[in-house]
Amino acid sequence: MKKKILIINTGGTLSSVMKENGLAPGLSTHDMQKELHIVSGETVLEIEDFCALDSANIFPEDWSALALHISELRNDYDGIVVIHGTDTMAYTSSMLSFMLQNINIPVVLTGSQLSITNPVADAMENCRCAIHMAASGMPGVFVAFNRKVMLGCRASKVRSLSFDAFESINYPYVAKISSLGMSIEKAVIPERKGVFQLANNYSTKVCMLKMFPGIHRSLLESIAEQGYKGIYLEAYGIGGVPFLKHDFISTLEKLISNGMTVLVGTQCRYEGSKMDIYETGRRTLEVGALQAHDMTSEAALTKLMWILGMTDNAGEIRDYFSINMSGEVSV
Ligand code: ASP
Repeated sequence: MKKKILIINTGGTLSSVMKENGLAPGLSTHDMQKELHIVSGETVLEIEDFCALDSANIFPEDWSALALHISELRNDYDGIVVIHGTDTMAYTSSMLSFMLQNINIPVVLTGSQLSITNPVADAMENCRCAIHMAASGMPGVFVAFNRKVMLGCRASKVRSLSFDAFESINYPYVAKISSLGMSIEKAVIPERKGVFQLANNYSTKVCMLKMFPGIHRSLLESIAEQGYKGIYLEAYGIGGVPFLKHDFISTLEKLISNGMTVLVGTQCRYEGSKMDIYETGRRTLEVGALQAHDMTSEAALTKLMWILGMTDNAGEIRDYFSINMSGEVSV
């Protein structure tokens, strides 16, 4: 029997047209149906519009609504493809990996660097790859781009212009397309741990801060004063935080003892944090910061938003960060 695939369009470059103020989403799935059907292969395709946004305009409430929508449709299709702008796609794919716990079908995000109306665009190739993955029967949340498929919570946009815009960070690719067709590495796809659960709450009181030489700790204090409950700190190297001159670590200690969750990761794209090596890392762990290990910043931030949307119990939060929920971290 032919696989039934749903394409949900949220916007992005793939569906963009030139408007008075620049390139912006303007094509509906109805406008793109001819192109989408060309790449549908052996599947039966259904298409629908969810929103029409440049992904810079995607916010957490959109993740929550999209997760709910997918959860309601997940038993009607063999797989779902989400067309999404590339700029924040890795945040959405990371958050959906958490919100759609133990999803029973493939949910595959894709987009493109050029509009589907452009004859030399990557759009149709990316949709072809995404549809093929959505029909694979391998459950999970994925990103398909430039003939490669990766876990949604390991994807990151690493190039702003090239067709090879996404990479799987600190984790093997799930599938690749070559002249032999699509080969799927089943062993690297995390196994379902239980029944499906929609968990689409999140905290809006989470922020992300990148360390730089000269950063002042009053910035941390003002974040706390504004009522934030969680900070993801992109620290240096394997997780270094300053404690001389501007003593960030004692400020973190104060915030943590007042109930703030501080998650520390690295500015380096590859290989993650290892905070037990240097004094700058060890001291940070000692004051109660949590470590992001090899998570992408997109996964670290969204995991923090997601967990703080469920609990503010420090022990539970620590527990969540000590386990791998969706393939996002090697612990
Ligand atoms: N600005 C676009 C977006 O993220 C870029 C793209 O889709 O490639 O919506």
